[in-house]
Amino acid sequence: MRRRIREERASGKKMRGMTTSPSGRLFVIQLHRASHLHYDFRLEADGVLKSWSIPKGPSLNPSVKRLAIPVEDHPLSYADFEGLIPEGNYGAGIVMVWDRGTYLPVGTNDVGLALQEGELKLTLIGMKLKGSWSLVRINRRAWLLIKHRDSHASKKDITRLEPRSAASGRLLSQIADDEVCSAKKESSKQGSK
Ligand code: MN
Repeated sequence: MRRRIREERASGKKMRGMTTSPSGRLFVIQLHRASHLHYDFRLEADGVLKSWSIPKGPSLNPSVKRLAIPVEDHPLSYADFEGLIPEGNYGAGIVMVWDRGTYLPVGTNDVGLALQEGELKLTLIGMKLKGSWSLVRINRRAWLLIKHRDSHASKKDITRLEPRSAASGRLLSQIADDEVCSAKKESSKQGSK
């Protein structure tokens, strides 16, 4: 099993139940329409995706601090998930991979410890988000995601200007439509059996 995982990692194949991504420093932001629309910001650390729910999404403007509510860790395999979470399940709704890439912690190699201590500086190397950022805990229930002043800082409204999936290019409404279509196909297939 261990050898198979090593081989799959070497060949860059997707792994179910993997314990680390090829980079070991994966980040993903999933746009999630559940009871409310929000952005789930996830960082690979200690073999899981540490996760925050950001109601307004990230801002490129260093003077705008975005509330990030810590939510439960997710398995690494969830980073690629885009589609429908069916009714009755945790987070039921539509999920889009809004941005993804890798990150570099700044000033530490121990991301888990930095998060325990309530402050992580990081460089994001995503398709949309780049440059230097901070995640800072302000109390038990709330963190802030803040863009640092650098060449990637901007007053552009990134969530409005870049509404499409980084994985599929689809809008959230298209993902929802595709899911309804495939659910219909599936049920008609079952009906004809
Ligand atoms: Mn969510």
